[in-house]
Amino acid sequence: MRQKRSKTYRKLMALYSMTFGFRQPYQVLIDSEMCKLATDTNIELVKQIGAILHGEIKPMITQCCIHELYLQGKSRQNAVDLAKTFERRKCNHKEPIPGDECLKSVVGDANKHRYVIACQSQPLRSKLRNIPAVPLVHINRSVMVLEPASDMTLASKRKSEEQSLHPTAPDIALVGPSSLDPPPKKRKGPKGPNPLSVKKKKVDNPTKGKNSSGRTHDDPRTLTERKRKRNNDEDDAEDVEPRSVIHPTRKRKRRRKVEGLHVDKDCT
Ligand SMILES: [Zn+2]
Repeated sequence: MRQKRSKTYRKLMALYSMTFGFRQPYQVLIDSEMCKLATDTNIELVKQIGAILHGEIKPMITQCCIHELYLQGKSRQNAVDLAKTFERRKCNHKEPIPGDECLKSVVGDANKHRYVIACQSQPLRSKLRNIPAVPLVHINRSVMVLEPASDMTLASKRKSEEQSLHPTAPDIALVGPSSLDPPPKKRKGPKGPNPLSVKKKKVDNPTKGKNSSGRTHDDPRTLTERKRKRNNDEDDAEDVEPRSVIHPTRKRKRRRKVEGLHVDKDCT
């Protein structure tokens, strides 16, 4: 039984830490009644609470709660001494109010400071069950008990899980730009190649084209014309030189051959 309880408590504290951000040392607000019960039954309060929460704890008491113990007089001196070892939590109540109301106000609507409430007051615990993520500890027959997660806590857990699965509008807005970034890159891609392909077309078809093509047409025309002129000049120069050199030799050879043949024929 003990192992089973320990396992359930460990799972429960894992829920509080994973879903609601509870961290060690857990801040445990202890009320005056629990201090009295602990001293009466000789329970090692801090050690027991640390055992069921499966971690280090920081025991705390509000000003109003310790004031309640002071009012008990010397008969409760042991409880006062125990409470004095706890860290004092300033509740900013100028005139002390009942401990239950003080703890309720300190927890607030959402338990922002992530307190664990260790109290014996049944009405206070029933009120705190309506606030999500408030771990409740009490002593039952000298056994420290950590209450199972309340319905509000479980509902809040489901909400946070749904939010993580289905991101809200701001989350989508944050994620959106990253998903929208790739498309513009793809759009930029095609724009790049198009001008390159257009330039090639300009060279092929100089007559038809846009403003950009007209600019490019002028350049190729001049380049081609220059090239053509250069080629023509070179061709002319080559034509002139080889003709003067090659033709005479060929003509002379042919003439010599012809003359030789004629001579041979004549000789025979
Ligand atoms: Zn107070």
